[in-house]
Amino acid sequence: MSQQRMQGQPMVILGEDSQRMKDKDAQSHNISAARAVAESVRSTLGPKGMDKMLVDSLGDVTVTNDGVTILTEMDIDNPTAEMIVEVAEAQEDEAGDGTTTAVAIAGELLKNAEDLLEQDIHPTSIIRGFNMASTQAKSEIGDIATSVDPSDEERLKSVAETSMTGKGAELNRDILVDLVVDAIQAITVEADDGSHVPDLQFLDVQTQTGRAVSDSELLTGGTINKDPVHSDMPTSVDDAKILLLDTPIEVEETEADAQVSLDSPDQLQDFIEQEEQRLQEMVQTIKESGANVVFCQKGIDDMAQHYLAKEGILAVRRVKKSDIEFVSELLETSIVSDVDAVTADDIASGSVTRDEDDELFYVEGSGHGATLLLRGSTDHVVDELERGVNDALDVVASTVADGRVLAGGGATEVELAGRLRDYADSVSGREQLAVEAFADSLELVPRMLAENAGLDSIDTLVDLRAAHEDDDEHAGLNVYSGDVVDTFDTGVVEPAHAKEQAVSSASEAANLVMKIDDIIAAGDLSTSGGDEEGGGGPGGAPGGMGGGMGGGMGGMM
Ligand code: ADP
Ligand code: MG
Repeated sequence: MSQQRMQGQPMVILGEDSQRMKDKDAQSHNISAARAVAESVRSTLGPKGMDKMLVDSLGDVTVTNDGVTILTEMDIDNPTAEMIVEVAEAQEDEAGDGTTTAVAIAGELLKNAEDLLEQDIHPTSIIRGFNMASTQAKSEIGDIATSVDPSDEERLKSVAETSMTGKGAELNRDILVDLVVDAIQAITVEADDGSHVPDLQFLDVQTQTGRAVSDSELLTGGTINKDPVHSDMPTSVDDAKILLLDTPIEVEETEADAQVSLDSPDQLQDFIEQEEQRLQEMVQTIKESGANVVFCQKGIDDMAQHYLAKEGILAVRRVKKSDIEFVSELLETSIVSDVDAVTADDIASGSVTRDEDDELFYVEGSGHGATLLLRGSTDHVVDELERGVNDALDVVASTVADGRVLAGGGATEVELAGRLRDYADSVSGREQLAVEAFADSLELVPRMLAENAGLDSIDTLVDLRAAHEDDDEHAGLNVYSGDVVDTFDTGVVEPAHAKEQAVSSASEAANLVMKIDDIIAAGDLSTSGGDEEGGGGPGGAPGGMGGGMGGGMGGMM
């Protein structure tokens, strides 16, 4: 299948098993690998997108239509395909949503680039054209976007709702959308320059199985999902004086092998008494600091538990590090690493309340901070819920911070494509063709939205283009009715920042793949990574460069 050529005199610098592919072969090999990945997520785009079921090597199942989750869980061992996965990851980090869009556009850019390469247009012209188009698209987004006030709850809810549509979170969208917007507003502070900064660090998302999604709630403060160490301890403390520890309340273990040789029963008694005394001292130090609640990241000795209970101190051990850290932000206090050094300065005031049903402590303090407690019947439900809600939190936060939104449902992509075609007229040389190819690639989004909704993608695109030619900048697809509508008015709204990021990261990834004109592989290159059979092609060596995607994708496509 591969036509691997060695040019000129063979000069042996590579090992016996290594293989090499150059120029067009290398390009088309890479492009097909990258496209195969991009195409594997396309069918999940939009509210009517399908889900993927991912089975990992241990047999654990994830059902999702979240682009970045699919790509990171897929067991991809093709280096070019991995570049596309990185697009999704970059998009997730930067914008928190729009991963499928970014990856799908990257795939379409490569598909259209391949056509240009076949017409003998040099990759550097295509790359230059794509860069021009990407820069132009960003500035057009600036022009098309509408500004949104950070207190405009209705608009923020639309943004959250759009990002949640089609996800597992959708069934309970109304409740979740309210929670998401409230949560972001709870952690948004106004900076000195008047800008609004949502600090997601002050928001903790916790999941709890066993109850209905509609019982999800936003709590001020943090939660600690543990039991008290001793049944005689108080469980709720209104006027709590809280100590946070990341060190055990235990007497240091003697060296692993060291033996204490005891000659008489008296010595044993002494030894035990010494240990007890140490523990008593530690509890005394804690008591003298004024603490009546101790959250400890490490263990607490049984004897110490007993002393703490006797002093009426609530103590909780083996608290998750992230929970201790969150509570420390919340209470604006530090985490102490040496029990003997605890003083009144280490103690923070707040309140601790026990929820017996959930076996949780709620911790409130003076600092700002909130916990979004997501509930659902099973792990699968809460996991997909959490992914959907996390995307929504990110987009609402990004909308509050950036203050600009765009019409969804493909409206922005069609508008951008039209504007890029106008811009292409001013571009000379081969780059013009690349700018046009870029415009066509953006229209993949409305085409896929239509196709995934069982609509005719060509008819849809024709209708959308016509509406935009009539200056209807917000004309997008209503995936439920198939009609062209003003998606901005119907509440399908996306943050401008995420779209900018999707366009630029897709273009960067496509360029990166195209720049490669030589593949030198230490292993087998015998199949082109993108062929339909994936790793199953003749001679395809899973794990080698040409192997495509390995086991994790079985049954997905
Ligand atoms: P991504 O990972 O790119 O966010 P999604 O599966 O979330 O992918 O789909 C996002 C796309 O779906 C966006 O183009 C958005 O405008 C569109 N979309 C979301 N809700 C609707 C809706 N109700 N009608 C039409 N399009 C929608
Ligand atoms: Mg999305």
